[in-house]
Amino acid sequence: MAAKSLQSIRGIHDGLPAEVRVWQRIETAARKVFGTYAFSEVRLPILEPTELFVRSIGEATDIVSKEMYSFTDQGGDNICLRPEGTAGSVRAYLQGGLTRSGTQRWFYIGPMFRRERPQKGRLRQFQQIGVEMFGAAGPLEDIEMLAMAHAFLTELGITGLTIEVNSLGCAVCRPGYRDQLVGYLKQRAGQLCETCNERIEKNPMRVLDCKVASCQAQLGDAPEMVGHLCEGCETHFTGVKQGLDALQVPYRINARIVRGLDYYNRTAFEIVTDQLGAQGTVLAGGRYDGLVEELGGPATQAIGFAAGLERLSMLLGETEAAGVDVAVVALGDAALTYSLKQAALLRSEGLSVVHCGGGNAKRQFRVADRESARCVVVIGENEMHTGLVTLKDMATGNQHELSIAEVVQAISG
Ligand code: ATP
Ligand code: MG
Repeated sequence: MAAKSLQSIRGIHDGLPAEVRVWQRIETAARKVFGTYAFSEVRLPILEPTELFVRSIGEATDIVSKEMYSFTDQGGDNICLRPEGTAGSVRAYLQGGLTRSGTQRWFYIGPMFRRERPQKGRLRQFQQIGVEMFGAAGPLEDIEMLAMAHAFLTELGITGLTIEVNSLGCAVCRPGYRDQLVGYLKQRAGQLCETCNERIEKNPMRVLDCKVASCQAQLGDAPEMVGHLCEGCETHFTGVKQGLDALQVPYRINARIVRGLDYYNRTAFEIVTDQLGAQGTVLAGGRYDGLVEELGGPATQAIGFAAGLERLSMLLGETEAAGVDVAVVALGDAALTYSLKQAALLRSEGLSVVHCGGGNAKRQFRVADRESARCVVVIGENEMHTGLVTLKDMATGNQHELSIAEVVQAISG
């Protein structure tokens, strides 16, 4: 009996070539747009001390309370597969001694891990493209961050997205608001889901974005943070809105955006689509002015966002062909070595070339077809003597006798 083949862990997917090519297109757009805003790439560890996330994201959050892949390693250290990139960025910013180096503008691309219930658009290993800015007083930086996020998604050609913005207040105005919200929620506790009942005391603002319909039905006239902002937060929020208007970045206010992490304050935002069901948030972020200090650094205002690569990829809804320029067909054994050399010449000009392997001509053309090559270059004994090859354009079927230099011209020109 054949052994049962092994499967990957549920919610953890392979990136096979056609999909990775789409990811690379997204990454290229990110690098291009973030580069124009003078952001530099950082590559940070996937393993971090568990403590880092407990102290930053917060113990009562979904991520820390039930979604982290954390374990004790052979040396007895508590480590964890990073569930997000902001906490690690702050750690690296402090550890790298960059607090006196002026504004830091970073971006990263890499895998994150959360033990969530796997479903469409919700994976246990997924990738984020994230950006962080340290030394960002705002509201100018908030405006530029949102404009950059918008430019990135526009560069990708994704339409039908909505930018939703909220203010989460600060240590001055949030406690008073929180008390009001808790009072409101307690009156409706009987109608809220079990999880929300637990949230009332621990993390009441999380109730506001509960995805359960019966909970949402209870929240119609729930008090909103934007109605309780202190003067500083009000001025900041007004500045953000005016800046977005001036730059013509389209947005709407959504007072229900709370973000699932404790460290956010003031500006919070999400970019959502209605095309991915409940997993409609493709990009999310906000300001986290207290986090650097919380993790042992000097008071440093900061803001960031992260986009889910797989969700963006689903929205693009395409697979990308490999983009083979030339398939080389060698006719006759005598031409085989020569054809390999010609293939190498074409590659040295930057073309993407597959060699169809020689032998039976019909089989070689089938290979060229399967590779979706744009052109076929046919090389036989005759071509060896004339120095010319036959170039066949696969779209039109047209054929020409050309030198290798002319082939390069014809394809790249
Ligand atoms: P969601 O509302 O989907 O739970 P979140 O608020 O947990 O998202 P963040 O922690 O802010 O999301 O992460 C930023 C982005 O990363 C999300 O907008 C989403 O595109 C992506 N993302 C988050 N969790 C997952 C996941 N489990 N699988 C795939 N993508 C994810
Ligand atoms: Mg989540």
